[in-house]
Amino acid sequence: MSTTSLTAARLGLVACDTCGLLSRPAGPGAAGFCRRCGSKLHGRHPNSLQNTWALAVAAAVCFLPANALPVMVTNAFGSSTPDTILGGVVFLYTSGSWPLALIVLVASFMIPLGKLIALAWLLISIHRRTHGGERQRMRLHRAVRAVGPWSMLDVFVATFTVALVQLDPLMSVEPGLGVLFFASVVVLTMLAAESLDPRLLWDLDPADIKRA
Ligand SMILES: [Zn+2]
Repeated sequence: MSTTSLTAARLGLVACDTCGLLSRPAGPGAAGFCRRCGSKLHGRHPNSLQNTWALAVAAAVCFLPANALPVMVTNAFGSSTPDTILGGVVFLYTSGSWPLALIVLVASFMIPLGKLIALAWLLISIHRRTHGGERQRMRLHRAVRAVGPWSMLDVFVATFTVALVQLDPLMSVEPGLGVLFFASVVVLTMLAAESLDPRLLWDLDPADIKRA
């Protein structure tokens, strides 16, 4: 056994999620409680893979209507114009605000899409028990968790509304149905990233994966 493959799980130890203390599990069925802080111990987060898959698939399903449905409806002179996220990007770009168009494109489209792709790749690499690149995948998982709260639609709403109000103060803006789906994508990808136990990324033993 090389040093790199030496893990607490292989030594029959479990690490406390709260305080990090390594303990011997109380029994084969249930690991018991941490003797330092009293938290419930478990080898890997229970049902981590199933929960992460479910949340990631739900987020991917919501991603389609989030982009296909209007996120805001602009009312002006008795007529209302629905706008999708990408429609808003095009509008900002054509009205000369390309820096705003870029910010909205990155924050409201590319980051959520990138997170979905990253989650799918992490999950597939766990299932395929990919050797090598564990460090990069750990970094990717940390990055997905870190950008969670930053892929915000309010960036889109704020910039787009400001641009509109500058054009014509008589216009009014209402949120569209796409906002609900967009918010769902943000929340579901955040929950998926949280529910994925990163220790599964370096578990190469099939028995370890089964334990998840
Ligand atoms: Zn503890």
